[in-house]
Amino acid sequence: MDLSYGPEYESFRAEVVTFLTTHRDAAPKGEGMRAAASLAWQKLLIENGYTARTIPEQYGGYGAEPDILKSRIIAEEFANAKTSTGLGGQGISMLVPTLLEMGTEEQKQQFIGPTLRGEMVWCQGYSEPGAGSDLASLRTSAVLDGDEWVVNGQKIWTSTAHIADWIFCLVRTEPDAPKHKGISFLLFEMDTPGIEIRPLVDMTGAANFNETFFTDVRVPKQQIVGERGEGWLVANAILGHERDSLGNPNITLARFNALIDLLKTETIDGQRLIDHPTYRDRLMRIQGRVMALRCNDLRILSAKLNNADATLARMIVKLQGTELRHDLEGLAIDAMGEFGLAYDDNPYVRDHGSWQAQYMFYLGLIIGGGTSQIQKNIISERGLDMPREPKVEKASQG
Ligand SMILES: Cc1cc2nc3c(=O)[nH]c(=O)nc-3n(C[C@H](O)[C@H](O)[C@H](O)COP(=O)(O)OP(=O)(O)OC[C@H]3O[C@@H](n4cnc5c(N)ncnc54)[C@H](O)[C@@H]3O)c2cc1C
Repeated sequence: MDLSYGPEYESFRAEVVTFLTTHRDAAPKGEGMRAAASLAWQKLLIENGYTARTIPEQYGGYGAEPDILKSRIIAEEFANAKTSTGLGGQGISMLVPTLLEMGTEEQKQQFIGPTLRGEMVWCQGYSEPGAGSDLASLRTSAVLDGDEWVVNGQKIWTSTAHIADWIFCLVRTEPDAPKHKGISFLLFEMDTPGIEIRPLVDMTGAANFNETFFTDVRVPKQQIVGERGEGWLVANAILGHERDSLGNPNITLARFNALIDLLKTETIDGQRLIDHPTYRDRLMRIQGRVMALRCNDLRILSAKLNNADATLARMIVKLQGTELRHDLEGLAIDAMGEFGLAYDDNPYVRDHGSWQAQYMFYLGLIIGGGTSQIQKNIISERGLDMPREPKVEKASQG
């Protein structure tokens, strides 16, 4: 089987490699999303079509025709070069594609460009106490008062709410409709009066997510995406984009390559771990899963090229990708022995603590965006047509 992409694409690959060789020193190395280096790198990537590639120019993207193979080559070469592919986050990965599909022209003009450039940071207001996996039970309400929605209620686990400029938020606008039907999707600024953010400290000691409270928050009527009461459709479109972005096989491959480097430098009794039978065995098990994830990605790619259905192949990416990353980062921590426990400014910490940080981060991602158990339910019921699990309505919604 010939898996090469052909001369036209190999010449494109050469262009990408030249870009990376010339510019990779300017790429951010773990700086935050607001850092000048991150914003400058994002600008350079957009200008050269290495991020926001197919987003129309009038909305701040590069405006290339969709070409799945070129997008794939970019991803592969950035992974090989272990170089940042630019900013991500909930605004860029989730909201932008959803606005392109479902937003009004005004919303596209107002939000997509600044979000792509990293000037407008978003958070996602979905989960509530009592509405996580069963998201449609959410109770935060929005009532129309003249030209404004008045929002009251509480969200929880709102990642980056403390640094976000805007929120995309699910609210109940039709309290008497069946629970999936009475939801709307609003956009509003995080400095609107009536919003209170309380940090939630996680087991790493950091507070990356929050409880977010709304008391009579007034939102202009037109800041709704989709029709009133049809926010569930928008929410599901966003969740699809979120899940696509959570198990990226090229980033996983880049981390796997870094893991190999680590096992070549770490030793036990003078023996390199890469030559140690136990670690070698564990590395190969991880390698098998990385290859399987990449093959699944090729399956999705080939389905897209042939206009075939890739639903099932897409469904498994989040489940497999997040669990694999957690195990991959965990092997690195084991390989570092006692230094695997070092954190933050400990002088013995390796690779700026990225293995420890990613291990914890992916533990969170196994839960966030729909837990692994929920992914398995979705795969079995919607992907494999197995019998649906019995739905038990809560005794009281009040
Ligand atoms: C790192 C991180 C970041 C997050 N960021 C955000 C964010 O920015 N915005 C936001 O809105 N939310 C966010 N969340 C919340 C996340 O979406 C929820 O945690 C998730 O949907 C699960 O909901 P829950 O925590 O209420 O758990 P529950 O729904 O209470 O589930 C508890 C346990 O029961 C299992 N379970 C529940 N129902 C079923 C079922 N039907 N079948 C089998 N098992 C089931 C679950 O798998 C889980 O193990 C984040 C979470 C994490 C961990």
